[in-house]
Amino acid sequence: MIQAKGIAATSAKSGLAPFSFERRNPKEFEVVIDIKFCGICHTDIHQVRSEWGESYYPMVPGHEIAGIVREVGAKVTKYKAGDQVGVGCFVDSCRECANCKQDLDNYCLEGVALTYNSVEKDGKTLRQGGYSNVIVVDENYVLRIPNAIPLDKAAPLLCAGITLYSPLKHWKAERGKKVGILGMGGLGHMGVKIAAALGAEVTVLSHSDKKREDALKMGAHNFVVTKNSENLKKYANYFDLIINTVPSADIKMEDFFNLLKLDATLVAIGVPDKALTINPSPLIMMRRNYAGSVIGGIRETQEMLDFCGKHNVVPEIEVITPNQVNEAYERVIKSDVRYRFVIDMRLI
Ligand code: NAP
Ligand code: ZN
Ligand code: ZN
Repeated sequence: MIQAKGIAATSAKSGLAPFSFERRNPKEFEVVIDIKFCGICHTDIHQVRSEWGESYYPMVPGHEIAGIVREVGAKVTKYKAGDQVGVGCFVDSCRECANCKQDLDNYCLEGVALTYNSVEKDGKTLRQGGYSNVIVVDENYVLRIPNAIPLDKAAPLLCAGITLYSPLKHWKAERGKKVGILGMGGLGHMGVKIAAALGAEVTVLSHSDKKREDALKMGAHNFVVTKNSENLKKYANYFDLIINTVPSADIKMEDFFNLLKLDATLVAIGVPDKALTINPSPLIMMRRNYAGSVIGGIRETQEMLDFCGKHNVVPEIEVITPNQVNEAYERVIKSDVRYRFVIDMRLI
């Protein structure tokens, strides 16, 4: 076994603390990765705190993983020691179902193997994530990080980057299209940068005025403070696409449906801890769509990394030490992060 060090939660209320555990030795198609950096996604907080149902503990969270290959199993062909690689939200899928066969393995009909807060096929070993110094992953679920992207900035692309890239591509954000990004946190700010790089006109819909300057610097064309409904009225029937990254149920979806053009789409990305109540009238009256999207497939994640390397699209990050994670969680909840915390796992 490989000795691993990390930080883990032992219950929904424990917070995170240092934790030693074991990783398996690599099987023939597996890669051992020395983790250098791991991003903090709001999903980590939801799961650490059992906000989406009871989680598995002890839990080492983290699915925005960037590191260097330490060694590879006997039959690995895609990677070798020294390669710069990443791991995202899932580490396996059935590989057989209709969705997996179309490279939509993020929608695997058998359910993906989540990087953490999930159980191995043996039914008892917990999978543990990236707030640690080492991980062992099948080569087919490992991503190549272009050399142009430094590892600390690469980490958030593995979830925040792909989660916005996939719907932006699917709903054809491009030149001539008007895209709204609702909520400019870790995911949202990547949405701004990627949509701008794809050539779309980008409008940030934010609950305060604090991020205006940053948004414009990142490539947004407009910035709207959503708590003032007069501001929203100016954008009625305006957008081709709105992506909602807000992790809270305290927003009135009708206000945002009304901003869509005929036939346009609002995509749910943020996962609130409570159900949303929706009045369907604004959808009905303008044949609008309300859709959802979860991360992206492995093939598309590689495409996104290559796109970001080519167009120099990288997140704004604040690098922290492992012992600052509990404090960082509080700041994420207060929307006080510019714009993604990344843990320096070399310091664990
Ligand atoms: P984050 O960094 O906390 O950003 C969320 C942003 O939403 C905040 O910065 C804030 O932006 C806005 N916001 C937060 N609370 C709000 C409230 N009460 N009312 C209105 N606006 C509020 O979170 P994240 O890491 O980007 O994740 C966002 C959500 O996406 C989480 O629920 C996460 O679990 C989910 N997620 C989904 C997927 C997927 O595949 N679908 C993947 C990853 C994460 P402003 O200050 O601009 O208003
Ligand atoms: Zn995530
Ligand atoms: Zn499948």
